[in-house]
Amino acid sequence: MLISEEKNVTTVTASGINRIELDTRIHLFLMPQETDRIFKALQGFCEDLKLESNEFNQLTLTEELDLADLTILYIKDATWGSDKMKQLRSEPKHFLKPILAVYEQAPDNFTELVDLNLTWPVLQSDFGVKVKELLKVASNVQDLIAVPNSIGDTGLKKLLILRHLYTRESGILIPTRNHLSSVGYSFPTAQILFNVKSGEEVAFLEELEESQLLTSKLIDKVNICPFCEHTQINFREICPHCRSLNISEETTIHHFRCAYIGRDSEFRHGLNLTCPKCSRELRHIGVDYDKPSEVMWCNDCNQNFSEPLLSCYCLACAKTFPPENMPIKRINKYTLSQDGIRAAEEGVLPGSGLINILKKEVGFYKREVFMEMLRIEVFRCRRYKYKSTLSKFNLGSAGEIPTSRKFKNDFAAVINQTFRTTDLFTDSRSGEILVIFTNTDTANAKIAFSRLKTSIDQIAITKIKIDYDLFDLAAQDDSMEGIWEKLN
Ligand SMILES: [Zn+2]
Ligand SMILES: [Zn+2]
Ligand SMILES: [Zn+2]
Repeated sequence: MLISEEKNVTTVTASGINRIELDTRIHLFLMPQETDRIFKALQGFCEDLKLESNEFNQLTLTEELDLADLTILYIKDATWGSDKMKQLRSEPKHFLKPILAVYEQAPDNFTELVDLNLTWPVLQSDFGVKVKELLKVASNVQDLIAVPNSIGDTGLKKLLILRHLYTRESGILIPTRNHLSSVGYSFPTAQILFNVKSGEEVAFLEELEESQLLTSKLIDKVNICPFCEHTQINFREICPHCRSLNISEETTIHHFRCAYIGRDSEFRHGLNLTCPKCSRELRHIGVDYDKPSEVMWCNDCNQNFSEPLLSCYCLACAKTFPPENMPIKRINKYTLSQDGIRAAEEGVLPGSGLINILKKEVGFYKREVFMEMLRIEVFRCRRYKYKSTLSKFNLGSAGEIPTSRKFKNDFAAVINQTFRTTDLFTDSRSGEILVIFTNTDTANAKIAFSRLKTSIDQIAITKIKIDYDLFDLAAQDDSMEGIWEKLN
């Protein structure tokens, strides 16, 4: 089906010169060994599109999935379709490529694993509109710059999530209700990409949010088990005396004369009430007896009470806990933040986990703002013989950086002990941290770093390396531009 191959086509339209998608190939996917009339019709549509307008004339049909920039899935069989979508969305090299699903029969519900859907019979014009829309996405994907190998597997997948949002106009990740998910919701595209059980993908999105690459908006709050973090919790009322589940509600009667308290059924004989303890007849409410508010009865220990105890039973891990110990998990929808857009464009995830904590604790200035403050600081130091130090540093680790909440809190505490609120921070383009220690000479800045090293060694199991350079801002020998050059 390889029809023609044209590269870098530029066409002139009424509005001026438009750069059109580079060598866009459409991959039309079909069930093996089956080339039926619908498939042929779709194939015809694609070829007609090429004739129809300049915008489409560089389309190439290909049988090789790897060459395709846009895949059209013609789905006869729902299971087959779902498998193919999952296959495409699970492979990083295909993950971003737009997919149009053409169903022979309308499915029960459309999945968000594909970008757009059509159900047969399809008008050629509708087909053209959808393909055109997806060519825009394909073009966005082609424009992305390559990702360095050093990013690692998880890093790459996180970046792909950012890039998926970046290349789609909607640019939003919305959770789908899913009773099979541990948290009751899932993000199908992320779940397939990270290859985890439904619900576990949320942790990756939360990490991206923690790194300030995603912005979240609350959608729902779910109760989760404090032990296994699943949301499948059974809430049940139990006896506060013996914790039995076997409780029921029944009118309670208190006989004044003998002080007996019992269930209505123990007293009742037809229309009359007779005390089961002293056998006297109860005639007048308020005179002979009253009805206490403790109307809940335990059928096991036979005690009565007004309020049953609420107990939570986790259907996933079988642990029981009181409701006040139950954490609430926020379910969010996500969009790209400014930093997220930058990461998607540059193809790198900023810093390690440690840098993100640092960022959160001390607050980073925008580079341009930092540069301006540096300029002022250099001026002050040189004119008034005032001592300030500029430092460029890096936190590296040989092993995996601990991800526990405790480590993060400890690290945040160390940061707050080491740096002062008057120190100014930003990060360089290469991911290093720049800090101005105001009113501090280089000797004291050095002491600060050695203290930082000692404190980190006390809390981290893995060795964390701190590399740093110091610049004396009062030194006359460097121009502002010279300093900036050394930093970037
Ligand atoms: Zn009981
Ligand atoms: Zn009695
Ligand atoms: Zn549990």
